[in-house]
Amino acid sequence: MIPGGMDMEKKRIVLLGATGSIGQNSCAILAANRERFETIAVAARSSLDGLADAAVKLGAKVALTTDTALESELASRLPSSIKAASGMDELLNIVTSKEVDIVICAIIGTAGIRPVLAAIEAGKTIALASKEVMVAAGDLVNAALKAHPEAQLLPVDSEHSGVFQCLAGRRTDEVDTIWLTASGGPFRNWSAEKIANATVAEALAHPTWNMGRKITIDSASMMNKALELVEAKYLFAKYNAKLDVLVHPQSAVHALIELTDGSLIAQCGYPDMKLPIAYALSYPERLPFPGKRLSLAELKTLEFFAPDRKKFPAFSFADAALEAGGTLPCAMNAANEIAVERFCRGEINFGSIYRIIDCVMSNWHNEAQASLEQLQIADTEARSKALEVRL
Ligand code: MG
Repeated sequence: MIPGGMDMEKKRIVLLGATGSIGQNSCAILAANRERFETIAVAARSSLDGLADAAVKLGAKVALTTDTALESELASRLPSSIKAASGMDELLNIVTSKEVDIVICAIIGTAGIRPVLAAIEAGKTIALASKEVMVAAGDLVNAALKAHPEAQLLPVDSEHSGVFQCLAGRRTDEVDTIWLTASGGPFRNWSAEKIANATVAEALAHPTWNMGRKITIDSASMMNKALELVEAKYLFAKYNAKLDVLVHPQSAVHALIELTDGSLIAQCGYPDMKLPIAYALSYPERLPFPGKRLSLAELKTLEFFAPDRKKFPAFSFADAALEAGGTLPCAMNAANEIAVERFCRGEINFGSIYRIIDCVMSNWHNEAQASLEQLQIADTEARSKALEVRL
C-alpha cells in the first residue's frame, strides 16, 4: 500500500474499441499510469494501424481485430512480443479470462452487448462507454448484474459518471430526480426550419466537446441526450428517480441529482473525457489529473435552460422509449444509427433523421427483453425498416 490507500497490485485491463475517441483517451490514461494498470489486450474492428500503435504503446500481450479476415494483416503490423487474434469468440475468451480485472467497453454501437454480458457473467468490472449497450439491452444487463453481484458496471459517459459521483453514499429513497445536462449542440439557437436543412459539416461543429463523428451528429439532433436518458434509466434503476434534462451551454456541470427535500447536488469538471474514464478505472480511488482544471472564477457564468422539446423531437422519442421499455429503446437506437448514416451519405436532410426514427418507433411491435437473440432480431428489423423509410 502507498499513502492514500491505493493498492499497488496492478489492475489488468482489456480495452475494447481502442482506436475510437474514447479508446484513444483511455490509452493516454493507461500509458500515463503504467504502475497501476497492465494492459492485457486491445481490440478494434478495422483500424489496424491505430490498433497496432495502441498495443505497442501499452505493451499489451494481445491485439485483436473483430474481423477474422484481417488477422494476418494485423499480425504483420505487430512486433513478435504481441500476439494477433481475431473474431468475437476469441474476444469473449479474452474478456472472461482469469487474467483480466477491468474491461473498458468503448465499441461503437450494440456490438458491445455480448462482451459486456460475458464480462458480467465472469464477475469483471466493466467501464462502460458504449451507451448503446444499456439503451438496447438494459434489462438483460441488469438481470445479469443481479445474478453476478461480484461484477461491477461503472459509467464512463460524462453525465452518467457525474450522476454516479453525486449518488455516492446516498440511500435509494433520497433521490427524487436525476438531471443530465446537455450543451445544446451547434443548433441550440437555430430555427426548426434551419435545423431541418443543416449540412453534415454544420452538424459536426460541436461547441464544447471534442468527440467521434456519430456522437457529434447525435449531439446536434439531441438524440445523444435521448439515448443518455434511457441509459440513465437502466444504470440507476434502483433509485427509481425521475429523469430530466437541463441545457447548459458551458458543459461545466455534467449532472445533478435532486433529493427529496429539494437539495441539488451537482458534479462539475473541465469537459475532458479523460476525467470520467480515469474515475471508472481507478474507482473508488481517484488518480491525479495533469490536464486542465475547471475554473469557475474564469468561467464566471453558468447558464441553464429547459430544453426546447418542440424544436427537438428527440425528447418525445426518449419519453416513449422510457415509458414503454422492452425492445422499443433498441429500435430507437437502431433507427437513429441508420438515419445518421443516411444523413452522412447525403441521402436525406437533417430533419429526416427525426422522421425516420418516428416512423420506426410509431409502427413498432413492442416486446419485453427476453434474450440476446430476440434483441438481435429486433435490432436487425429496426435497421431494415429505417433503411426502407421513403421520404
Ligand atoms: Mg455524454
